[in-house]
Amino acid sequence: RPSLPRPESTRVFVVANQKGGVGKTTSTVNVAAALAQLGQRILVIDLDPQGNASTALGVEHHRGVASTYDALVDGVPLVEVVSTCPEVENLDVVPATIDLAGAEIELVSVVARESRLHKAIQGHPKVGSATEAGEDRYDYVFIDCPPSLGLLTLNALVAGAEMMIPIQAEYYALEGLGQLLETVEMVKAHLNPRLNVSTILLTMYDARTRLAAGVADEVRDHFGDQVIKTAIPRSVRVSEAPSYGQTVMTYDPGSPGALCYLEAARELATKGAPR
Ligand code: ADP
Ligand code: MG
Repeated sequence: RPSLPRPESTRVFVVANQKGGVGKTTSTVNVAAALAQLGQRILVIDLDPQGNASTALGVEHHRGVASTYDALVDGVPLVEVVSTCPEVENLDVVPATIDLAGAEIELVSVVARESRLHKAIQGHPKVGSATEAGEDRYDYVFIDCPPSLGLLTLNALVAGAEMMIPIQAEYYALEGLGQLLETVEMVKAHLNPRLNVSTILLTMYDARTRLAAGVADEVRDHFGDQVIKTAIPRSVRVSEAPSYGQTVMTYDPGSPGALCYLEAARELATKGAPR
């Protein structure tokens, strides 16, 4: 596969939408795997106690495995809780265990509770510019958020510079988006002025329905260039892959879902890092 030029420094993406089931995890793992296949060095941080991203990337995440919880709550250096994805080269994962469900409450009484993840990520020796972090640096970090706007997601919004919002192309797609964007504005004003909603990804797109096309048009009218041109089609292969501990990028690389994720990943990479 032709590879992509690497970014100058690590791009940290938050994948968030407080609505569940819109394709956050599916998009995180598949875009991450696609970029890794294109020669980029990737770290996925599973920030959802359900650990779906960990499952899809084939890494263990039972209680006792070094995980996001240890980094967030106990301040264990991120580099010590990283696992390697067995299926895809150049792809590392910080798994989430069910312990993370308690973090939302445990963090409330912790110093600088909103910036724990930011500190953890910036403290990783492979995060930063070429001069800071060398040739071994991560090109992308993706944070897969839980379906809520609590302290875990807030930590992600403080830690990231770019945000990818997956939107499911269906009737209630835009409901709740206002609240999400208000939260982003609040974070920008008070906690992280660098945060930029750079990327909107249409997921589970069914080209046969007028409804999906209508939703896609509405999203494009509203968000313009932020919307990735390639919509991800609804595909059984995409939804089957996690039960084999795989992304669709290795499970069925020639399927429409895999090809679209590859194209979407390429777009995301070439859109470049806003400063
Ligand atoms: P979220 O992380 O936002 O809760 P998921 O990524 O877990 O959403 O997706 C929700 C469900 O939809 C999962 O069962 C997933 O397998 C399925 N799904 C996601 N994207 C697709 C797709 N393109 N085609 C078919 N099923 C999909
Ligand atoms: Mg999820």
